Amino acid sequence: MILVGDDPASAVYVRHKTRACEELGYLSVQLDLPATASQDEVLHAIETLNADPDIDGLLVQLPLPEGLDERGLVRTIRPDKDVDCQHPESVAALAVGTPTFVPATPLGIMEILHDEGVEVRGAEVVIVGRSNIVGRPLAALMLVNDATVTVCHSRTRDLGEVTRRADILVVATGRVGLVTGDMVKPGAAVIDVGINRTPSPEPGGKDRLVGDVDRPSVEPVAGRLTPVPGGVGPLTIAMLMRNTLAAARAHDEAR
Ligand code: NDP
Repeated sequence: MILVGDDPASAVYVRHKTRACEELGYLSVQLDLPATASQDEVLHAIETLNADPDIDGLLVQLPLPEGLDERGLVRTIRPDKDVDCQHPESVAALAVGTPTFVPATPLGIMEILHDEGVEVRGAEVVIVGRSNIVGRPLAALMLVNDATVTVCHSRTRDLGEVTRRADILVVATGRVGLVTGDMVKPGAAVIDVGINRTPSPEPGGKDRLVGDVDRPSVEPVAGRLTPVPGGVGPLTIAMLMRNTLAAARAHDEAR
């Protein structure tokens, strides 16, 4: 893992990933670079891990500090080590329906739906949020799995009118409480991807993590609702580990 800068949320995510590697007995290497790192310095870190035969998968923790060319950097990741699907080649493969690696969060969402017995084939799926790490790749993956997909974003005119059509509603916006009960079809499976740090209601209490879904109003309407924390987050890490295992096996076979 390559961590550039001192974004606290990124540091937490990297720590969780490192812990998962330790629990599974994976070798894990973290290269930390300061927020002032140049494009060449980050490139050098990627090339170091690309060339290391002990490393089967690598990722650059996003977002990167201002001034770095994220696209230029991720395209230097070796595609066979691109376990978080950052390289444009992996993204294109997913877009045309022949995925190699699939980004961990969308994969985690598919896994939750599969485990819960929620039928994706033919389902009306609405995704709120169109980021490159969640909304867009998830839409491609849902299409591969024969869902009918609608993607909403901040310019969607009547969000509730669209979300109420969803058999499966995925919310990934970073906006606390954006989706309320009146926007949900009764019985729908609701996947809350948001992880938002909010101050505790008690004075002096610890910050809390909450999702993008207004739980009190959505829970009575939805058939299923993933928790925050504890829902998509842990599955995201598990899927990253699974992708890494797949990469390791492919490398072993090629040796
Ligand atoms: P981004 O900020 O990259 O994207 C947010 C998306 O939400 C954008 O497409 C934006 O629209 C859309 N949006 C914002 N406001 C509204 C609104 N009022 N109505 C409709 N759409 C809106 O976020 P990420 O995808 O990176 O992350 C989203 C959330 O998911 C965050 O809370 C993040 O912490 C969490 N997350 C959780 C992960 C996990 O493992 N559980 C992994 C990754 C993220 P537009 O494009 O028009 O700006």
